[in-house]
Formats: sequence, C-alpha cells, structure tokens
Amino acid sequence: MAATLKIEENVVLAPFTTFRIGGKARYFVEVRKEKELRAALEHAVKEDLVVFILGGGSNVLISDSGFPGLVIRINLRGISRMDIPGEGNAVLVTAMAGEDWDEFVAWCVERDLAGIECLSGIPGLVGGTPIQNVGAYGQEVSESIVSVRVLERTTGEVRDLSRDESGFEYRKSIFNTSQKDRFVVLSVTYELKKGGAPKIAYKDLQNIVEDGASLKDVRNAVRRIRASKGMLVRQGGADARSAGSFFKNPVVDQESFEEMKGKAGELGHEMPSFPAPYGKVKVPAAWLIERSGFERGYRKGNAGLSTVHALALTNRGGAMAAEVLELKKEILAKVEALWGVLLEPEPNLVGYEEAR
Ligand SMILES: Cc1cc2nc3c(=O)[nH]c(=O)nc-3n(C[C@H](O)[C@H](O)[C@H](O)COP(=O)(O)OP(=O)(O)OC[C@H]3O[C@@H](n4cnc5c(N)ncnc54)[C@H](O)[C@@H]3O)c2cc1C
Repeated sequence: MAATLKIEENVVLAPFTTFRIGGKARYFVEVRKEKELRAALEHAVKEDLVVFILGGGSNVLISDSGFPGLVIRINLRGISRMDIPGEGNAVLVTAMAGEDWDEFVAWCVERDLAGIECLSGIPGLVGGTPIQNVGAYGQEVSESIVSVRVLERTTGEVRDLSRDESGFEYRKSIFNTSQKDRFVVLSVTYELKKGGAPKIAYKDLQNIVEDGASLKDVRNAVRRIRASKGMLVRQGGADARSAGSFFKNPVVDQESFEEMKGKAGELGHEMPSFPAPYGKVKVPAAWLIERSGFERGYRKGNAGLSTVHALALTNRGGAMAAEVLELKKEILAKVEALWGVLLEPEPNLVGYEEAR
C-alpha cells in the first residue's frame, strides 16, 4: 500500500504557507484519496514519524527548522449537493477537505445558496474551516455546518461528528482544543438556504451594501473590504504575507473590562467593545495593539505589522519564523503591561515541540 505513495524528502514548506515562512519537512506527501491518506498514516506509524496535517497553510507559522516527521498535505476534492424537499429551501452541500474555501463559497453564491457569503475571501481549504470555526463579518461556519466527516488517526475509523459534537465556540472547536491532532477532516457538510437572504449583520458591511443586496453583492463587498485591509492573499504584496489575524480578540469578564475602560479613559481613549456570551465582553485586539505603541507598518527585522491592519503580523520579505516570534513577544509584553490582558495567538505553531 505504502508503495503507491509518492513521499518526498526535505521539502521546503515556506511555499505551502501564506506567510511564506518555514523550513523543510523531513518527509512530505500529498494525498488525493482517502486510501492514500490511510496509507500515509500507516507509513508514519510503521516508521515512527510524527505527523502534521497541512491544508492551505493559511493559519500556521512553521519553524525555521521545519518539521521533523511526515507532513501530509490534504488534496481530497469534490463537491456534492442534496436538496431537502419541504425543508424551507434547505440544501445540504458536502465539500471534500481539499477544496479551496473561497472557490467553494463562490460555487455556493453562484447557485444562490445562502449561509457562507460573508466568509468570502478567506484563504485555506474547506477542511481547515471547522478547526478554528472560521468566522468573519458576522458569520461563522458553525452556523451552517451540520456535520464534519473525520478519520480517526490512530484507529482509522471514519465518523460523522455533528455540530454539537464539534464543540464550536469563537475560534475554537474540539479539533483545536480537547481533541487536537486526533482526527483528519475528510469532508464538511453545510446546510445552506436556496434563495436565502445574505447576512448583513456587520457594521462595515451595512455601510456599503444597499438594501436588497444579493449574495453576490455581499460576497463582492466582503472581498473589497478584505482587500483594503490586506486580507486577500491573492492580491499579493507584503501585507498579504501573513496568517491573517495573528491574535484572537480577548474576551474578558465585566470587572476586567471596567478596569481596561477606566485605563483607556485616563489615556483619553474610548475603548470599543462587543458583547460576548455569558455576560463577557470582547475587546478588539487590533485596538489594544495600536494603543500600546505599535503603529501599522511597525517593523522588527524582516517581520512587521501590516501597513493596513494592526492585527496581521507579516513577512516584509525574507522573514524567519524567529523574527515573527520576536515581534509577537514584544507585542504580548507591551499589551499585557498596559492593559493587563495576555493576547492569545491564532495561528498554529508547527515544528517547535516536535523538534525538542
Ligand atoms: C489573509 C488571511 C486572512 C484570514 N482571514 C480569516 C478570517 O477572516 N477568519 C478566520 O477565521 N480565519 C482567517 N484566516 C485564517 C485561515 O485562513 C483559516 O483559519 C483557514 O480556515 C485555515 O485553513 P487552512 O486550510 O489554510 O489550514 P492550515 O493553515 O493548513 O492548517 C491550520 C490548522 O488546521 C489543521 N488542519 C487543516 N486541515 C485539516 C484537515 N483536513 N484535518 C485536520 N486538521 C486540519 C492543521 O493541522 C493546522 O493545525 C485568514 C488567514 C489569512 C492568511
């Protein structure tokens, strides 16, 4: 079985990431079929190799020393659709994990299927979307995901996990917390609405789309806003060489929020905030970073903040992962010292623990 796999050695990982950063994978294989994935996992067990599952590489920072085991790049393709009669125009669409996410959103929008239009322009693959419950502009994939088909890495068992079983929260699921590294996502099924209205909940979006806007109008508007913030990878340039937002927006309790607000007031600022579940408050990390002395475009070596979005740490050209981590460290320290909150990074750090 393993003989059918084309396993390469010492493959530089930087080109497989949106950061364009990362050393070599000791072994690398791209899988197009479930049986190839199984064979790759079996090979790793036989050879005692650690495994990293790579999608579109848009939410990773890979170490300069690379990854010492087997990187399995997911390229399982295919989209299928099932209309549910009498269910309020509900349509179930299943996309394989290796489908390009933004092309999948375009596919749905062209077919007048509502539910993921605000997630236009997010890089990466379908299989990456449940991992951190991808969200933007007032929409999250957890609103439309009905099930996630997974292959358990140690047993090879295939299971369909429901939305509830996937444990979705803000930028969280079981796949990046309690069950991290247990499953490989094979496909994701979304419930969309044929002829449904687009979601226009986010203020930036409300400001630029007209009443009665179509799904396509909203998709185009989201992509325009993203382009203005350097959040469209395909537009290229240093501002797009990132992993998107590097930090999550901190969610704090009311007491901590009041303290932060008081501090902001003393400094002559009005602190923006959004309500979060359980009476908590979400504070924009970009605001905290900018109010901690970091201007957009701030540089540390070849790493720097995007010139158009303070939340994106970027590779200004030839940056090493170590430089990005130095910048991250400086930001964490200043934000914590001033605002008493420790920001949590969003991208996955790859090749650090394994190398020890
Ligand atoms: C410019 C830019 C803008 C972005 N904007 C947003 C945004 O608005 N909202 C948002 O939520 N995110 C955003 N992101 C982050 C990122 O695009 C998403 O998290 C995306 O879903 C990651 O998918 P990926 O295929 O690239 O995953 P990768 O980066 O390849 O992997 C990320 C993690 O998921 C795991 N993984 C990937 N595929 C699978 C699979 N099939 N099975 C099991 N594990 C898997 C990996 O092992 C890794 O731990 C942005 C990134 C960039 C570069």
